Amino acid sequence: MSKNHSEVKKCQSCQKEFTVEPEDFEFYENIKVPAPTFCPECRLQRRLSWRNEITLHHRKCDLCGETMISIYHQDSPYKVYCHKCWYSDKWDISKYALDYDFTKSFFQQFVELHQKVPQLNLMNWNSVNSEYTNLAAENKNCYLLFESSHNENCSYGYWLQESRDCLDCSFVNKSEQCYETIIARSCYNISYSNESNNCMNSMFLRNCNDCSDCYGCVNLRHKKYHIFNKQYSREEYEKILKEKKEEIKKGNLAKLKKEFEDFAVKQFYKYASIHNAVNSSGNYLSNVKDCHFCFHTSSAENCKYGYHILRDSKDNMDVSTIGYGSERIYESTNVAINVFGVKFGVLNIGSNRDLEYSFLCSSSSNLFGCISAQKKEYCILNKQYSKEEYFKMVEKIKKQMNKMPYIDKQGREYKYGEFFPLELSPFPYNETIAQQHFLLTKKGAESEGYSWKDREKRNYEITLKNKDIPDDIKDVDNSILKEVIECATPKNERESTNCTEAFKIVPQELEFYKKMNLPLPRYCPNCRHHQRLKHRNPLKLYKRTCMKEGCNTEFETTYAPDRPEIVYCEKCYQEEVV
Ligand SMILES: [Zn+2]
Ligand SMILES: [Zn+2]
Ligand SMILES: [Zn+2]
Ligand SMILES: [Zn+2]
Repeated sequence: MSKNHSEVKKCQSCQKEFTVEPEDFEFYENIKVPAPTFCPECRLQRRLSWRNEITLHHRKCDLCGETMISIYHQDSPYKVYCHKCWYSDKWDISKYALDYDFTKSFFQQFVELHQKVPQLNLMNWNSVNSEYTNLAAENKNCYLLFESSHNENCSYGYWLQESRDCLDCSFVNKSEQCYETIIARSCYNISYSNESNNCMNSMFLRNCNDCSDCYGCVNLRHKKYHIFNKQYSREEYEKILKEKKEEIKKGNLAKLKKEFEDFAVKQFYKYASIHNAVNSSGNYLSNVKDCHFCFHTSSAENCKYGYHILRDSKDNMDVSTIGYGSERIYESTNVAINVFGVKFGVLNIGSNRDLEYSFLCSSSSNLFGCISAQKKEYCILNKQYSKEEYFKMVEKIKKQMNKMPYIDKQGREYKYGEFFPLELSPFPYNETIAQQHFLLTKKGAESEGYSWKDREKRNYEITLKNKDIPDDIKDVDNSILKEVIECATPKNERESTNCTEAFKIVPQELEFYKKMNLPLPRYCPNCRHHQRLKHRNPLKLYKRTCMKEGCNTEFETTYAPDRPEIVYCEKCYQEEVV
């Protein structure tokens, strides 16, 4: 089936056309899968709908009965165990196996098995005093961190690594005392900033490197005492900074944010954040070769349609969050640490080889349709087969999947080669990361056949109205810890941010605001998370031309053509940056 020309296909889901390139066909042939029937965007949405990262619930462990934090809510139809029970020998996976039934679709049987086999409450390894963290490891004294590891005293973070004393930060590495910052590395004491490295003691930075004591600056290198990109003496700088800080204390933070946005939008931008990339396209790329349509990708080679690929990954397609030695992974999410040949996998972390359609499996090889399996081989729907039987059965099942595909509520067909149907996700759509990138209303999601979970009615009363939050942190004492504070997001916008409507301040958070002299937040953590992610460009590429006069360099950029920013090619950007 190898083709030397591209082919235009119509997406089964959104009906838009998409192109399968000759090298894509080559990849599919290599790993023995048919070409996809969903377009790349619908494939991404489908994969992300199988990931609940940040929605946590209190529920009981179905084995020991203890209350725990979980990504599955109490009334979800899944059996969920705490870490202690799930990793214990108190249950036996061989009791949770199904004989393959050739009269039913594969996906139907997978769901039946899924609802029987014990699930892990969430992913949190080797952490100390950090129980409200998911997809997390080695954190100490952390609260509400997601996709984050090796941090200390950090709260409300997403993709935060090796950092200390940071709050409300996303995609931040090796930093300390940062606040409301996204995409930063090796920074100290910076706030309201993004895409900056090696900066310290600064506020409102964008695309700055190696700067200190700067306020409201864009595209600066090795600078000190700059305000809105202008040099000041140390005395002048300190005087103006003091005035700005007084403004914040008077409750004018929103005004300062707007003042910076108005300045920043008039500056020029590099078409993409790409460093040391050979023959590659996407955004937030570093040390990559032959990677296309990849976002947040580093140390990778020959990958396509990837989102969050890190550390030694090669020959992968349609992947979300893979790394630490992952090779030949296709249509999978959260597959990492020494894995090879995983197709249609979810949460298969640690030493896996040749898995298909498997969920939460580790240290295993040659599994098909398995769930929660550890150290297993040659299993189908968790049932053990001999090596010879296994390969025979798998071939037979693939044929049956094509003859008897799963058909979803919208009439989309899922034969062998499709990722798990979105409507069979174990998580409500609005609790998954798909909602962050492909925003749907409750009505919209339900009309597509996706599940939705309304916020539970809480039995609390709001004790502090948003307008009554003190502006100056000096006017706040420990009594704030008892208050139930109203979120500032208007009622009609709350559905889209998964707003919790009210929030509390935790002790280490209050300590942080006091120490950093920052005002209390006005929004709940979910709304803050949503606002931070809005500062990141979408996972889409547009063909555009450099806007510098006289330059006709073409590039692929995440800046849509109708955006107001001035966008330059690499060369023009480097020439202008000072
Ligand atoms: Zn589509
Ligand atoms: Zn338990
Ligand atoms: Zn909110
Ligand atoms: Zn140019």
